[in-house]
Amino acid sequence: MSKIDEAVFAEDAASYVPVFQRYQIVLDHGKGAYLWDVDGKSYLDFLGGIAVNVLGHDDPELVWAVTEQAHKMIHCSNLYYTQAQADAAARLVELSGLGKAFFGNSGAEANEGAIKIARKWATRQNPNKVKIITARMSFHGRTYATLTATGQPHYQEGLGPVPGGFTYVDFNDIDELARTIDDETCAVMLETIQGEGGVFTPAGDYLKKVRALCDQHHALLILDEIQAGIGRSGTFFAYENYGIKPDIVTLAKGLAGGVPIGAFVVTDEVAQAFGPGDHGTTFGGNPLACAAANVVLRRVPEPAFLQHVRTVGAYFKTGLEKLQQKYPQLIRDVRGQGLILGAELTIPGRDIVNAALAQGVIINCTVGKVLRFIPPLIITEEQVDEVLKVLDEVLSKY
Ligand SMILES: *Cc1c(COP(=O)(O)O)cnc(C)c1O
Repeated sequence: MSKIDEAVFAEDAASYVPVFQRYQIVLDHGKGAYLWDVDGKSYLDFLGGIAVNVLGHDDPELVWAVTEQAHKMIHCSNLYYTQAQADAAARLVELSGLGKAFFGNSGAEANEGAIKIARKWATRQNPNKVKIITARMSFHGRTYATLTATGQPHYQEGLGPVPGGFTYVDFNDIDELARTIDDETCAVMLETIQGEGGVFTPAGDYLKKVRALCDQHHALLILDEIQAGIGRSGTFFAYENYGIKPDIVTLAKGLAGGVPIGAFVVTDEVAQAFGPGDHGTTFGGNPLACAAANVVLRRVPEPAFLQHVRTVGAYFKTGLEKLQQKYPQLIRDVRGQGLILGAELTIPGRDIVNAALAQGVIINCTVGKVLRFIPPLIITEEQVDEVLKVLDEVLSKY
């Protein structure tokens, strides 16, 4: 630990609300899939700022777009039009095949807006149509509505009363959903691929059956692709893998490559539920964030870019499966799709993460025992090999 580290740790301990269990490094700058700390040590970044830095660090085109837009105008107000915002919304509509987009500043805000517009749409038909069904082990954010949507009780502890009308079912259990959904259900809200809950993909035709149940009960299907969207699964939207379309999709994390942004995209029919004054934001969709988003929205949907995600993702997953064969007593399961991959351990993951960090590899662990890999989408097979080699070394000590 250097003098700079010690000073920053002390300053943080004295001044920052202690909600983050941080790793003991102070990061300074990055390039591509690498980060450097203040003491000049390099790290291969297989977390990507939690699925945010999709183009890696210091991407020339992204940096240029942000720099140029900052010179022109960082912010105006949603009382006026900007080219950057209109372009970003048009592109999201084009890519999704849905009707209208709205921009906020984060994932939670995107989901909050989606929940609001769903309730507005549903209660116009029937004032009791307010029930929102979400999945256990889901994660939807930390505002009051989204932490209530989040199907993990510990996120709600000590924070009540929380908003009413939320009910939970097991992800991938279509029978439980069939028993729970009814004509007073406003929406079913799911992550297309569960991220924080431990990397769970929808099994078989689960999402098709969810879609059918929603249609049968005239309920909206809201898919939270804040983590799994923006090319991460190997298609631009993760739902494209499962042959369905939601009524509302929410995005954030990778959408502007690291500049804060969130979005919900809805069908034209649902969009009509909101009129002037029904929703709003000061910062959301400002030209700086949208200029960054427009770079991501041009580059990531390119067929060659998505093909790269599928190829390197499959290569990585095969490597993790080989590690599982080598260490069956340590790795219980390998799962995921594209570049959202998980390795479920039989032991706590934090020590593994710390050991990898000491060897210059940044990875992450969720729900205590699932190593989760959500790297920049530009990683190479050589970088995958490097991470697999470090994991092998770390696991061999157990
Ligand atoms: C990260 C995340 C959120 C919350 O996003 P914030 O930007 O932290 O508010 C919501 N849903 C999913 C699936 C996420 O991964």
